[in-house]
Amino acid sequence: MVIAIDGPAGAGKSTVARGVAERLGFTYLDSGAMYRAAALATLEDRREPAEVARTLEIELGERVLANGRDVTAAIRTPEVTEAASRIATDRAVRAALVEKQRELIRRGDWVAEGRDIGTVVAPGAELKIFLTASPEQRARRRAAELGVDWRTVLRDQTLRDEQDRRREHSPLRAAPDAIAIDTTDRTVEDVVTQIAKLARDLRG
Ligand code: C5P
Repeated sequence: MVIAIDGPAGAGKSTVARGVAERLGFTYLDSGAMYRAAALATLEDRREPAEVARTLEIELGERVLANGRDVTAAIRTPEVTEAASRIATDRAVRAALVEKQRELIRRGDWVAEGRDIGTVVAPGAELKIFLTASPEQRARRRAAELGVDWRTVLRDQTLRDEQDRRREHSPLRAAPDAIAIDTTDRTVEDVVTQIAKLARDLRG
């Protein structure tokens, strides 16, 4: 079974997806980590992003490995975050990473999280969730994690949201059959419980 969780930055996708995976014994796929790993490699060796995306060996798990190197922390810097959103507009980059993602989730039970899981990577996913939260709430959550002012985060986040929504290839949008969940005033626990219940009900 595949559970697709999409939504904008800071809506709680990673925390919720991890929680659901743990609750159900599914494997968690952080597709954003792939865009980030490819972006880091592009910044480092100045090769074509599409070439990097095609050839980079990305391993996801407790740690993120790129060609065997641990890049878990390096892919979370603001510079890489910005570069990830930029290379994600490239159709060839997306094609290469989508192929890797589809290969991974072909077998077994997955909670896959990103921007285009329900629309492009796994349009046949049994359960699709579109997570949202108010822009202010999303910025406050990110700021608390990073220990910086939330207004600065809000500015960067608005730009990134725009870039993700407006891009020509696989823009951020909810699949028509996705269930929208607004996490603004809800706890992670509460949202995880709701999604796990939806999945269990589907399985019967
Ligand atoms: O989710 P995360 O913030 O780690 O993703 C980093 C960037 O990668 C996003 O801003 C987005 O541009 C891109 N991305 C994407 N499609 C995905 C996952 C991430 O375009 N499925």
